[in-house]
Amino acid sequence: MLLHSLDALDARIILRMATGMSDIEVLMNPEREIDEGTVSMALALADERRSGIPMAYIMGEKEFYGLPLKVTEDTLIPRPDTETLVDVALRLSELYQRPRILDLCTGSGAVAVAIAHTLSLPVCLSDVSEKALSIAAENYERNIGRKPDARLGSLFEPWSGEHFDIIATNPPYLTELWYEETELDVKAEPSLALIGGGADGLDLIRRIIHEAPDYLAEDGSLAIECDFRQIESCARIFRSEGFSSISVEKDAAGKERVIYGRRLS
Ligand code: GLN
Repeated sequence: MLLHSLDALDARIILRMATGMSDIEVLMNPEREIDEGTVSMALALADERRSGIPMAYIMGEKEFYGLPLKVTEDTLIPRPDTETLVDVALRLSELYQRPRILDLCTGSGAVAVAIAHTLSLPVCLSDVSEKALSIAAENYERNIGRKPDARLGSLFEPWSGEHFDIIATNPPYLTELWYEETELDVKAEPSLALIGGGADGLDLIRRIIHEAPDYLAEDGSLAIECDFRQIESCARIFRSEGFSSISVEKDAAGKERVIYGRRLS
């Protein structure tokens, strides 16, 4: 079933993958014959793309914060929007000395890897999906050069008794309706990583803000990515759970994307 068109960039990447040649090599050798195996591989990859599989899954890789990350259909594909969450966490890190940092709902590990790489500090990570967690640990080890403290479990379940200066999270937050309306590429991603629960998509975020104080050090900070339509509700939840210094950060597209606050001591 062909549902998706193949744009020029996708086609170039597919040629690169099938031939093993760089774009320049392909362009400089228009006469070069390619064998049948290469042709059928290129056609098979093109069919995958046209059936709605995102290029990142076809390539098995996506760049985030300038770092190469392995992605599979068990992880969300890291979005440029999420770089805002990393920026916020990095700014918050200046408030603490050698902060202990947790990336909750890590998925591919993108946020943890970007923070650990920039700060040269270890970042803890966890996820409810065993398959995602193993990709995250692999991405961390590949980019940081050591194994992370990576724990399996729902939200804070694996962190009983632990305290962090910064908790950064990009949890599932789409409403069922937003998910239904979303483009085909997003439908290829795990819905577990996307749909937040409740009519407003905020069920998981509500639990995170409610439970976070138990896992934050005194004066610790919680930073959450959400949709711009959820910022006001999130601010209300932050306030009702006793957080202070609540602020909002816009993404590169100018939309409010990250909300963060500090635990009152
Ligand atoms: N921003 C993502 C999207 O719109 C959602 C990410 C998430 O739910 N954590 O597809």
